[in-house]
Parts: sequence; structure tokens; C-alpha cells
Amino acid sequence: YSLYNFTGDPKLEYAEWESRMDMMNSWFSDMKSNERFLYERESINGSKVVSKIIDPVTKEVREMLNFASNDYLNLTQDPRILEKMTAIAPYYGAGAGGVPLLSGSMNIIKELQEKIAEMKGMEQAIVYSSGYGANIGTISGLLGHRDVAIYDMFAHASLIDGSRGSNKKFFSHNDPASLEKVLKNTQNKYINKLVVVDGVYSMDGDICNLPEILDIAHYYGAWVLVDEAHATGVIGKTGKGTLEHFGLEGKVDIITGTLSKAVGSVGGYVAASSRLINYLKYTSRSYMFSTSPFIGSVVSSLEALNLISKQEAGMDKLWDNIRYVKDRLMKAGFNIGNAETAIFPIIIGDDNKVKEMTYRLHLKNIFVNPVPYPAVPRKLTRVRMTVTAGFSIEQLDYTLNQIEEIGKELNII
Ligand code: PMP
Repeated sequence: YSLYNFTGDPKLEYAEWESRMDMMNSWFSDMKSNERFLYERESINGSKVVSKIIDPVTKEVREMLNFASNDYLNLTQDPRILEKMTAIAPYYGAGAGGVPLLSGSMNIIKELQEKIAEMKGMEQAIVYSSGYGANIGTISGLLGHRDVAIYDMFAHASLIDGSRGSNKKFFSHNDPASLEKVLKNTQNKYINKLVVVDGVYSMDGDICNLPEILDIAHYYGAWVLVDEAHATGVIGKTGKGTLEHFGLEGKVDIITGTLSKAVGSVGGYVAASSRLINYLKYTSRSYMFSTSPFIGSVVSSLEALNLISKQEAGMDKLWDNIRYVKDRLMKAGFNIGNAETAIFPIIIGDDNKVKEMTYRLHLKNIFVNPVPYPAVPRKLTRVRMTVTAGFSIEQLDYTLNQIEEIGKELNII
């Protein structure tokens, strides 16, 4: 969570952004010097619903309900995927042996790229070793010093990092009028303009107001990039993401995403027209100069995307859980912002209470994350919990009862 979202003033300039990053780092060192708030977690058995986590204070191994995982469909543990992976991976070996342009392209990687392109309704896709690499490489590969990236101010850090070599502007979160203002102001100043949004926002769980943002961006001659990290496998009737959710397939210029959340593995991708993807193959440095992804994750991702497309990945169970948690949190009187997906911000607006609630929940073996200032504005500091498909109603009830009790004790509700 450390550098997830950088949020602040829409007029924010780079220097201020850097200084807030420094502030964030010092917050983390403060936390590390205070045993009570140590959050670096070592898990013994990955991102299971009940994960064995080493308590950073006592060093004991405790089983905790894992509400800090983006493995929304619990596919990291899915036997169908693990079976495929263990059967096929030895044929390809432990690594790709090179960067894609020299020796790292394999038919299984091409198959995954074709699957992603098909799911995202784009002509072509390429995969990277991480979502971070895909975002940074796509934006920096496309934009130069005479271009501008215009970000929703809640856009993910990996997107913002992509425009170190170009200009950047911000618009207010999910606000088409604010975007229009920025577009008008930048109209004749730059050659290329790229509007950058997340399909689902990683700290708030709300969905991008894509129909209006798309209209305005295209009206002013800007391209649109949507990061589908938290949307793929979660929204859209068949889990294809934000475009499917709004019925806007084929309308966006560039889609990026990760294979590390609902897809349950690791790796990233960009999907777009063949022309644009071919261009990126020779300009996107994190693609050109980085070894192709681990084959075990290529095989797993392919199988996971197949299961999602066939609607056999448990999305209905995920949505039962999302609705249940949302309903109870709202009825209890918590402020969960505009959360609409598997990510729930319990907005508290007081750093001490955020830390205290997180700590007390950990003592009850409920693993959640604190999101303090300056990760989000002071008024919006929160405890963040993510819901996955594998939780039983009993586990959710236990957790929600604890959250309510602690919420009352701390005068949050
Ligand atoms: N985009 C968003 C919105 C994310 O939340 C993340 C996750 N950290 C990434 C990109 C980066 O993906 P990865 O973890 O695969 O590098």
C-alpha cells in the first residue's frame, strides 16, 4: 500500500509529488520504529483465505483471515490451475531465457497475448513481467517531452511513474468537468494528450466514470488509457472488466492491466491496435529490455483467463460476498465512500484511529491494511479491506462483528 495512490491537489506538480513521497517514506520508518504498528507481513502460505502470517511483534505464526489480498477469485490456489501449471511448466522450463525481441518469445506467451487481446476486444496485446512494468513502459514508450499525460488524481503510482519523461497534469477524481477544464487549458500546448484512468480504483473500490470521461477526452483529441488491474475478473458480466461493464468494448485506445490480482498470478499487459502494439515493441523499454515473464505464471494466467471467460472462476460467489459486506458495513453506519467492487475503504479520517483499528483487528486475527496520510488526503484516511470469493458467511460475520464492535469502541460509528 505504500506507494499505491498518490492523491492530492489536481494542480499538483512534480516537486510537490516527490516531497510527498518522501513524507510517505518517513511515515513508514516511524511505523517501523514503533513495534505496535509494524505491518511488513510475512506469510507462510501465500494469499489463502486463512493465511499463516508471522506476527511481526511476537514472531509467532498466526492464522489470520486475509482481507489484504487482491486474489479476488482465490485463483492463486485453484487446483485446476495448479494442475495445468505443474503439467505444462516443465516442458517450457523455469525461465524464458531472454528478452522478447531476442529469444524470449514462446508460443505459450503468444497464446496468452492473444487471449488477452480477445478478452479486451483489442487487435493485439503484449505481456510484461509485471503490471508496474506494463504501465510505466506503455506511457513512457508513447509520450515524450512535448506530450502530456492527464491523470485522474487517484490513478495508480505505476501509471504516474510512466510520465517522468513527459508532462503530467491531474484532474479531480472521477470528475468529467475537471477533466474538461484541464483539456481546455492544455489544448494547444502539447502534441499528444493521453487521459489516464483506472477502471476500478485501488484504494476506493469505485468504478471509473468511463462513458463521460471517454466522450470528453475524445472530443478534445486525447487518447484514453484504462488500467484494468482491479476490474478484470471482477466487473463486466463475464469478468472482462470496465469496458464490458459499460458496454464500451472497442471504444478505448489503450488497456493495461495486471495478471496479479483476480487472475491470481503475476505479470502485466497492454492491449491496443496492432499498430500501437507494434510501436510499443520497439519503444517500451520495460518490454524491450526485460526478460519475458516466468512460464509458470504464463500458463497459470492463461488457464485463469479461460476459467474467467467460461464463467467458471467463482465470480458469482465473489459478488455474493461483496454485496453482503457492503450491506453490513453500510447498515452499521461506516463511511465506505463510493465502494462498488471488492475493495472496501472504511474511511475514518483520523490516523490514530486508523492505526488503532487495524491493530485491534490484527489481534482478532483479521488481516487488513491501514491507509494513512499522505497515501490519501487527511480527511480520507482509512482501513482498507478486500473481499475474496472464498470467504464463508461465518467468516464474514465474525469479521464484520469485530469491525462493528471496534468501530463503536473508537467512536467511528
Ligand atoms: N495498477 C494498479 C491499479 C494496481 O493496483 C497495481 C498493483 N500493485 C498495479 C497496476 C501494478 O501491478 P503489479 O503488481 O502486477 O506490478
